[in-house]
Amino acid sequence: MPMFDYVRAHSIKEAIGLLSDPRYVSRLLAGGTDILVQARRAPIMFQRLVDVSRVPEMKVIERRGDEIYIGAAVTYTEILESELLNAHAACLVEASRTVGGPAIANAATLGGNIANAARCADGIPPLVCLDATAHVRGPDGARAVPVVELVSGQRQTTLQPNELITHFSFPVLPSGARSVFLKVGPRNAPTLARISVATAGALSQEGRIQFARVAPGVVFPRPQRCIEVENLLIGERPDAALCAKAGAKAAQVMIEIAGQHWSTNYDAIALRGLVARALRRTFQLEE
Ligand SMILES: Cc1cc2nc3c(=O)[nH]c(=O)nc-3n(C[C@H](O)[C@H](O)[C@H](O)COP(=O)(O)OP(=O)(O)OC[C@H]3O[C@@H](n4cnc5c(N)ncnc54)[C@H](O)[C@@H]3O)c2cc1C
Repeated sequence: MPMFDYVRAHSIKEAIGLLSDPRYVSRLLAGGTDILVQARRAPIMFQRLVDVSRVPEMKVIERRGDEIYIGAAVTYTEILESELLNAHAACLVEASRTVGGPAIANAATLGGNIANAARCADGIPPLVCLDATAHVRGPDGARAVPVVELVSGQRQTTLQPNELITHFSFPVLPSGARSVFLKVGPRNAPTLARISVATAGALSQEGRIQFARVAPGVVFPRPQRCIEVENLLIGERPDAALCAKAGAKAAQVMIEIAGQHWSTNYDAIALRGLVARALRRTFQLEE
């Protein structure tokens, strides 16, 4: 393991001050499950790690009015154990259940997952589905940026040097809405996503779909919702045939956006099935 300095920050202000210290090239450390693995594999590009894993302001999970706030240093285990998130962000809780094993989930944070910006990151589809905003702070102040704009590509973000994600927020879903996360991976055990999807939906009193969100993971060059699929669902009565049609549309949109490559045939079949199944579960056509 290469040598570098380590320092723990106790507040967001202190973390930004440490990151901006001109004497060191510094990087943030949260759970370390990405950055320390990367540091073992390749020459490191930093001289100091600034640990934000215990910054109290970055550990909150709370409701403020009609919005839910999740600190960037919240771990997957803390998400799983949160009553608030179980009630209002089932897709994020389900995604957290699939991350690594217990040892990884106890350390890995939502902020680290999004800042690392791997295409297979399990945190991305739920946050996109929930229409989440990332709250970012740096030496020049604070800004709010939608997660779909923060993650700009594979391992790329629009974070500026010395900026950190402090927390995420998203509007509470409409009353009666349900959300679901599903992923397929290379093995039938905790695994990185080969393809994933987060969906959310709610029915009107007449039993028609009045709210629908579909956010596939991995298959697009950058995170986005499938608005074409959502439009196809709105106003319809949910049944298995409609969910299958939505799955086929998602596969078609994927090919239009991502183009054809070696795995397109597999991806299209897997995405079609995954979206259809997630929607059947969202609208309680199956468990
Ligand atoms: C065995 C194993 C299994 C895994 N399984 C999965 C899986 O199933 N699904 C999945 O999605 N991932 C998985 N991962 C990857 C990893 O656990 C996640 O991406 C995790 O969420 C990263 O969070 P962290 O807190 O450990 O990040 P760290 O490694 O601490 O940091 C990652 C990056 O984000 C930056 N960073 C950290 N916090 C912030 C912040 N608040 N603001 C800005 N930048 C920040 C760091 O500087 C670094 O560049 C796995 C990793 C391992 C080792």
